[in-house]
Amino acid sequence: MVDISRGSALGISGASELFQLLRDGVPRTRASLALATGLARSTVAARVDELMRLGLVTPVSDAASTGGRPPSQFALNPAARIVLAADLGASHASLAVTDLAGSVLAQRRERMDIAQGPEAVLGWMVDAALALIAELGRDRRDLVAIGIGVPGPVEHSTGRPVNPPIMPGWNRFDVPGWVQQHLEVPVLVDNDVNIMALGERALAWPHVEHLVFVKVATGIGSGIISGGLLQRGAQGIAGDIGHVRVARGADVPCHCGNRGCLEALASGPAIARALREQGVDVRTGGEVVDLVKRGDLDAIQAVRQAGRDIGEVLTACVSLINPSVIAIGGSMARAGEHLIAGVREVVYTRSMPLATEHLAIVQSAAAENAAVLGAAMLAIHHALSPEGIDALAAR
Ligand SMILES: [Zn+2]
Repeated sequence: MVDISRGSALGISGASELFQLLRDGVPRTRASLALATGLARSTVAARVDELMRLGLVTPVSDAASTGGRPPSQFALNPAARIVLAADLGASHASLAVTDLAGSVLAQRRERMDIAQGPEAVLGWMVDAALALIAELGRDRRDLVAIGIGVPGPVEHSTGRPVNPPIMPGWNRFDVPGWVQQHLEVPVLVDNDVNIMALGERALAWPHVEHLVFVKVATGIGSGIISGGLLQRGAQGIAGDIGHVRVARGADVPCHCGNRGCLEALASGPAIARALREQGVDVRTGGEVVDLVKRGDLDAIQAVRQAGRDIGEVLTACVSLINPSVIAIGGSMARAGEHLIAGVREVVYTRSMPLATEHLAIVQSAAAENAAVLGAAMLAIHHALSPEGIDALAAR
């Protein structure tokens, strides 16, 4: 373990490094920290003191030790700071302030058209964030990072959306730079499906290392967590499965210019269109879900077929990535087991037995909170990294 006992421009300080052992919230003693790091007890004690001075670590009452002895165990203090999490959708915006464990302290959701452009949407976000922080009685200096999800491809390293099809005015817009004119903290931006994968994992599968989150809504996309890490790929579009061709759709045109894309067959609008061609009076994916919930057989069959189409593409993903969980979310997942059953039918029959032996294909547990929860995770992960803790200590 690298030992840099004083923070410097060149490295990570000892305290921020030690903090990495404490950020999981599990209480530890100075002795166990010394054992884990190989550092002297006195060094550990000094670093724990520094983390307590920052408020990031707090003594934890020890059931075994009573009678006025000083506390011997320490853990992350989630209340020490706050992060802001924003889920900016095509037609809605959801904003939450959470603590450092991702617990939502205050939340706001509004109808918002992303096509209003970045300055209008981000301006609303900044104003709403300041209002929420004030409502909580927190100081805006408690805010340590902001995570933002947007409905389009993002160059994650710069936080700039790249040719997002439904976000006019946002192409290559410097989202972090604009937000930081108002809130001077790190700003992390990613596409909505990636952050939904992070949120789903944090809520329902915290110990799962290999998870694919599939969003089925107006479009279809997936977020991939492999080896415990979100996989963005070279251009930030890893998991973009909506334009993979499925056999059944040979002649169906897609808005991307190709034919037979998964999205042209199995998205909400595509299912609605297929039903209209059968004479069913239905306009949107949401109306399809309503029909399914009322037990309409045509709608149920169409949704189940969409599940099979999605399963066809996911079978290839299972071979490539070998996930242990596939979580299906997005507005069409509200159709429930009918969509999932179609996915399972194809994936379980077409995949190699070993790949599906322990594979769970389930409805998203985080549901409509997946994105805002994932945006919080993105912000927290950055804020609690060694670099993030060093930056806090220097403030
Ligand atoms: Zn397409």
